[in-house]
Amino acid sequence: MTKRTFISTDLPQMIELYNQGKSTVDIGKIYGVHYSTVKYHLNKAGVRIRTTSEAMYYKHGTTIEGRDERYRMLRSIKQCPFYVEWRAKVMVRDKFTCQLCGYQNTRDKPTKEIHIDHIKRFSIIIKENKISSLADAIKCDELWDINNGRCLCVDCHRKTGTYGGKYNQ
Ligand SMILES: [Zn+2]
Repeated sequence: MTKRTFISTDLPQMIELYNQGKSTVDIGKIYGVHYSTVKYHLNKAGVRIRTTSEAMYYKHGTTIEGRDERYRMLRSIKQCPFYVEWRAKVMVRDKFTCQLCGYQNTRDKPTKEIHIDHIKRFSIIIKENKISSLADAIKCDELWDINNGRCLCVDCHRKTGTYGGKYNQ
């Protein structure tokens, strides 16, 4: 994209996009100008610039506080005894063996990490069941169904696309 300078006739459209929820970064990309230029001109035109928290809300439908709250909620689920038990049951059933490649840790060869993978993503279960607290989670049978868990070695887990993002999956 060739960098353009700000053209004042673009401003009314920029203001409209901003009011629709587009960020200064998005608008900058559309018009080929730096976001700080967009911000400067919006501000000059009397548009109130959103705070970081408000911007977050527009972008992700949640505030920073809301995100932190959600993070704490998910962590409390992953640390509760039901979760620990769910993992243990999956591990015992699969005999600590990767369900994709058959890798098994033995006492002589405990070299590779074995992970417990959610076949249906944890985050989707949380979303579909509208879980917003640990109490909701405890009541959710789907979350504790060991048929939705499997042992995977770290290498196979990496290939599944659900690897990483422990709490924000
Ligand atoms: Zn494997």
